[in-house]
Amino acid sequence: MSIRRVIPFVLISGLAVLVGIGLWQTSGGTGRHDVAVVREPTGIMGTSCRLVAVVREGDEGTAEEALAGAQAELSRIEGLMSSWIENSEISRFNAAAAREPVKLSDETLEVLRAARDATEATGGAFDVTCRPLIELWRSAGKAGRHPTEMEIAEAREETGWRGVQLSEHEAIKNAGPIRVDLGGIAKGYAIDRAVEVMRRSGAAGGMVDVGGDLRCFGRPPAGQKWTVQVRDPFAEGVLGEFQFEEGAVCTSGGYARFTEIEGRQYSHIIDPRMGVPVDAVASVTVVAPKAQTADVWATALSVLGEPGLDRLPDGVEALLISGDANTPKILGTGRFPKDLATE
Ligand code: AMP
Ligand code: MG
Repeated sequence: MSIRRVIPFVLISGLAVLVGIGLWQTSGGTGRHDVAVVREPTGIMGTSCRLVAVVREGDEGTAEEALAGAQAELSRIEGLMSSWIENSEISRFNAAAAREPVKLSDETLEVLRAARDATEATGGAFDVTCRPLIELWRSAGKAGRHPTEMEIAEAREETGWRGVQLSEHEAIKNAGPIRVDLGGIAKGYAIDRAVEVMRRSGAAGGMVDVGGDLRCFGRPPAGQKWTVQVRDPFAEGVLGEFQFEEGAVCTSGGYARFTEIEGRQYSHIIDPRMGVPVDAVASVTVVAPKAQTADVWATALSVLGEPGLDRLPDGVEALLISGDANTPKILGTGRFPKDLATE
């Protein structure tokens, strides 16, 4: 499938979603042009990152400030919430003993509370306490062998919010080996915060894209809308594109990151209810006002598949791709799939 029209300049943004910006410069009618200033910092959350700030020509200093602020914000939140960073707040919580209160920042607690609410809203499909299962499948992948039923049962025992208490300034484990993983929500939260920083810096528009999860605000450098291209989960290239004004687009998909065991690919997303990697869909793209919401639901719908569409909150839309390369099945809610232009 080819895209409907050729975009003069395409921002290639990592794994899942591509955003096209028509032109670098466009006349605003006042004689002064809008310009898009782009920065691609490395080392953000272990993936690609693209930041775009739109300002009036001559205001490039404002754009630079907005981009530097957004980059610093992403790194700051990664430092709080990544379980890959040894002394992050989440790593400290994961290493703590049962009943030992762990003091956390308001932000980390806010994300943990949102994650707990999401477990409820998704009927248990989205559950950041499933870290023991994530670790089990990751180490099984490294060892090249399937985990045993017993190992899965043990990791499931260690999963669930019954093991965690959140108070105003602390988190406490009720039992020993509880661990959390904010990999399915913290990136969205960080993108939202980075957009806030860019807005406050005075950018007229912009985009924060971390590994293909993104949020746009204000005006793009050309035209009225941002164009987002959805990657084909079955092959190299683009499945289609759609346009939107403001908001976030996040994509989860088994093709992006997986473990291989005995010749079979297993997704990095786990169904916490069963303790096994998901295989219901090839990819899920979610559009929501906030990146945190889009991030949560992209992961959750990867677990729930089609029946999960009924659970989507108002204002959140999803595009679900399943089947295989020969017989892809594309369905969605709201604007999807009708607004997905495939040629
Ligand atoms: P995403 O790429 O946003 O779909 O997030 C995937 C990441 O979220 C994984 O790499 C894990 O760190 C974590 N994760 C995996 N399964 C789940 C789940 N069922 N609920 C919440 N987080 C999960
Ligand atoms: Mg997610």
